[in-house]
Amino acid sequence: MEKREQLYSGKAKSVYTTDDADVMVLEFRDDTSAFDGKKVEQLDRKGMVNNKFNAFVMQKLEAAGIPTHFIKLLSDTESAVKRLEMIPIECVVRNVAAGSICRRYGVQEGMDLNPPTFEFFLKNDALGDPMVNEYHIDSFGWATADQVARAKELTFAANDVLKAMFDQAGMVLVDYKLEFGMYKGELVLGDEFSPDGCRIWDKETRKKLDKDRFRQGLGGVIEAYEEVGRRLGISFD
Ligand code: UDP
Repeated sequence: MEKREQLYSGKAKSVYTTDDADVMVLEFRDDTSAFDGKKVEQLDRKGMVNNKFNAFVMQKLEAAGIPTHFIKLLSDTESAVKRLEMIPIECVVRNVAAGSICRRYGVQEGMDLNPPTFEFFLKNDALGDPMVNEYHIDSFGWATADQVARAKELTFAANDVLKAMFDQAGMVLVDYKLEFGMYKGELVLGDEFSPDGCRIWDKETRKKLDKDRFRQGLGGVIEAYEEVGRRLGISFD
């Protein structure tokens, strides 16, 4: 497989075509952003850490029967993935209250959400990724009812796998965001799963080990990502 031209460059990843129309290369860069791109920095090793972290999680999910776009690692910072037609919706599951849900509903950070709650957001930085519901998605034609139902089912299925995985490694999976796309008529998990798109706390101390360290200027961002990875058994050497 041969990497060809850059198709798209997002806030933290770049996407390249290959000589196979069904396969793309994802390059994880060191760029880190928050607040819809308003805070941007380069964090050494981040591309490599997130690429390997994502590969590990995608393979776990695939093994649990959740279809993903991941094919294989190509280098420290690159992975081959299936080329999906992306749906412009973010699916968020929350096991514990943190971030925007606390601001929106005035709930205390750290409150257990039982059952976990689910939210859709529209992927649109200019609008600040507003929360949307299933009626909006249907009326505006962002996805079909079948795609929405399947995305919800797969996002909750991922919660069962990942909550247990983090718990066994002494961590709490607070919340996370997934994005899906279509591949040959099937809804498939795309984008990435890394500490950039989820919240992970130490189970005992509740120390934040995810991108909130960057958002809140707490420092030790990549050290925390690597710590999470090491506890899960990922090697970053
Ligand atoms: N998230 C993300 N990309 C976004 C918005 C949210 O990956 O554009 C993730 C975020 O890291 C967290 C979860 O989705 O794990 C819920 O985010 P929240 O709505 O609390 O927004 P935030 O407080 O991060 O702005």
